[in-house]
Amino acid sequence: QAHLDRIAAVDADIHAFLHVNDGALAVAAEIDRRRAAGEQLHALAGVPLAIKDVLVTTDMPSTSGSKILEGYMSPYDATVVARSRAAGLVPLGKTNMDEFAMGSSTEHSAYGPTHNPWDLDRIPGGSGGGSAAAVASFEAPLALGSDTGGSIRQPAHVTGTVGVKPTYGGVSRYGAIALASSLDQVGPVTRSVLDAGLLHDVIGGHDEHDSTSLEEHWPSFAAAAREGARGDVLKGLRVGVIRELPDAGFQAGVSSSFREALAAMEAQGAEIVEISAPHFEYGVAAYYLILPAEASSNLAKFDSVRFGLRVDLPGGTVEDVMAATRDAGFGDEVKRRVILGTYALSAGYYDAYYGSAQKVRTLIQRDFDAAFAQVDVIATPSAPTTAFRLGEKIDDPMQMYLNDVTTIPANLAGVPGISVPSGLAAEDGLPVGIQFLAPVREDARLYRVGAALE
Ligand code: GLN
Repeated sequence: QAHLDRIAAVDADIHAFLHVNDGALAVAAEIDRRRAAGEQLHALAGVPLAIKDVLVTTDMPSTSGSKILEGYMSPYDATVVARSRAAGLVPLGKTNMDEFAMGSSTEHSAYGPTHNPWDLDRIPGGSGGGSAAAVASFEAPLALGSDTGGSIRQPAHVTGTVGVKPTYGGVSRYGAIALASSLDQVGPVTRSVLDAGLLHDVIGGHDEHDSTSLEEHWPSFAAAAREGARGDVLKGLRVGVIRELPDAGFQAGVSSSFREALAAMEAQGAEIVEISAPHFEYGVAAYYLILPAEASSNLAKFDSVRFGLRVDLPGGTVEDVMAATRDAGFGDEVKRRVILGTYALSAGYYDAYYGSAQKVRTLIQRDFDAAFAQVDVIATPSAPTTAFRLGEKIDDPMQMYLNDVTTIPANLAGVPGISVPSGLAAEDGLPVGIQFLAPVREDARLYRVGAALE
C-alpha cells in the first residue's frame, strides 16, 4: 500500500509506470496469510517488484513501449516473471521504456518520456528509464530491466541506483520481447547490491524455454554481496583500467568520481592495472550494425496478423495493410533501425557491413580475453555524462548512440557487468556510477566488488 501511495503521489510527474497492477494488494494479502500460517517463504516474498514492459505478463498489458502492442495481453508469463511470482514477489506494475528498448533516454517511448527523479527536466536513462526511476523515487523497492547495450546499467548510472547485466545466458530471455537476441539479457535494478543479488538469485538459472540459457550451477549472488560487504575482498584484487578509453567525451565530474572510486579501492588494497583494449572504441559502430540487423528480423513478426495493431484498409492488399500498420504502429527510432538493419543484411552489403561488424565483435571478445588474463575485473565509468536534459539529444541519433560507449562492449562479448553509484558529479550534483566487468560466468565477482564499494 505504501508503494501504491507513493506512485499515486509522484508518478504523475515521473511517469515511471505504464500500468499499475490493481491486483497487487490481493497478492500481498495472500502472502501475508501464508506467512501467518507459518509457511516458510522466500526472503523477498511480499516485496513489490516493478517490471519493465519488455517482459510479458498474463495479468497486465505488455507493450514494450510501442503503439503496435498497445493493450497486448500475453498468454504466458516471462520466465523471470513466473519465477518472481513463485518466490512471492508482488508485481507492482509495468515500467516505461524506449520503444522496443531502442534508446538511452526513454524519450522514444510511444507513451511519453519518464523523468529523472533527481531533476524532472532530465532523462532517467534508457531504455529502462522507467524501472530505474521507479526504484530511485522509492515507488518500487526492486525492478526488472533488460540490457542489450546498456539499458540496465546506464539508467542505474544516471539515477543513483544499482543495475546488473548478467552473463549472456545466465538469465532466461523467454518472454522478453526480443530486441537483438544475441545481446539481450534480463537483470535486476535496485537500490543496493545485496537487493540485486537477492533478485538475481530468484530470476537466474537454466531455463529449457531459452535455447541460449546456460546449464550452469550458479553460486548465490546474495551470498556474494554479503561477502563483499564484510570487507577485505578488495585486498589483492586486480582492477583493469582501459588505456584507450578516451578521456575526451567524458564529463569532468564523471571522470573525477571514477578516479576517486579507484583511489578508494587502492586504499583498501586493490591493485589498479592499466590494460589495453584497442577494439573497444569500435564497439558502438559494430553494435549499431548488429543490433539493427537482429532487430529488423525480430520485429518482422509485427505484421498486422499475429500481434497487436492492425490498420484495416478496405480494398487494400495484405502488403498494404502490413505497411500501413507498421507505419502507424512504429515510432521513428524503430523505423530508422529497421531500415538500417534490412539494408545491412541485404545482398551485396551483408559482408561489408554485418560481416565486418561480426569480425569487430570477435576482436572485442579477444580484447576481453587478453585483459582478463591480467586482471580480475575491469572498471570504467558507467556512461560518459550524468543525466542530460530531456530533448537535448533526441534529434541527434549519433549523440544518443555515443552515450553507450562504455556499456556496449559487455553485450558484444557476453560478459557480465554491474553499475554501482560512485557519488555525485561536482558540477551538477547528479549521480554517477562506476561499472565493473568480469569474465563470463563470474557474475559473483561483481557482487562482491560492488558490495565492497557501498
Ligand atoms: N542505448 C542502447 C540502444 O539504444 C541500449 C539498448 C538496450 O540495452 N536495450 O540500443
